[in-house]
Amino acid sequence: MCYIEKNIKDLREEIHEICSKIGRNPEEIQLIAVTKTVDHERINEAIHTGVEDIGENKVQEIMEKYNVVSSVNWHMIGHLQTNKVKYIIDKVKLIHSVDRISLAEEINKRAKQHNKIMDVLVQVNVANEETKFGLANSEVFDFFEKIQPLEHIRVKGLMTIAPYEENPEDVRKYFKMLKEIFEEIKTKGFQRVEMRYLSMGMTNDFKIAIEEGANMVRVGTGIFGRRNYNK
Ligand SMILES: *Cc1c(COP(=O)(O)O)cnc(C)c1O
Repeated sequence: MCYIEKNIKDLREEIHEICSKIGRNPEEIQLIAVTKTVDHERINEAIHTGVEDIGENKVQEIMEKYNVVSSVNWHMIGHLQTNKVKYIIDKVKLIHSVDRISLAEEINKRAKQHNKIMDVLVQVNVANEETKFGLANSEVFDFFEKIQPLEHIRVKGLMTIAPYEENPEDVRKYFKMLKEIFEEIKTKGFQRVEMRYLSMGMTNDFKIAIEEGANMVRVGTGIFGRRNYNK
């Protein structure tokens, strides 16, 4: 068995274990294999092992890999420049990183041109880190109000990237905060908003994220090993 297959198998087992410990159904948890910097051969190996969803953080990489990777659902999980929306609007299943009105408007416009409704998540910078993108917690409700008129966008949930902590217990509080915002938005009855996905948790902290309600975890290193950025 190659290491990718082994890692995925181990990961799925870990997800099962946590779920049975806390009484959640493991089927609820979508595993998104994060493939940034990973070449198409290794991505295809993961897909042959049963991975159905992959996440990329750069438009450029999606464009390069799109035609050489087997059929799979693509997720845009990284910061998205407004002028690049047009390249991925017909390729990705879900955009996790909507964090400003201008971006939401551009996605809406391009989706309309393609006669489709684009599913998106709203990215929240729960820990308020300067280096990270995402709305501040206090801006989230206002943002939802403002995107109400955009008929070609459907908000399916929230996403966050927690700070890196040596001890993942230290980020539990941020996952709790995002879950609270998630539940509160559900009660507001916004149009075209279907609070279904809570995208949080990466290699270092996915277990804590699942305990706190994540149903999409984005794992890269835990599947493909450490990334090599200088290829
Ligand atoms: C790289 C990345 C991940 C995966 O990180 P790992 O620590 O390698 O699991 C998850 N989410 C986003 C937005 C990323 O950019």
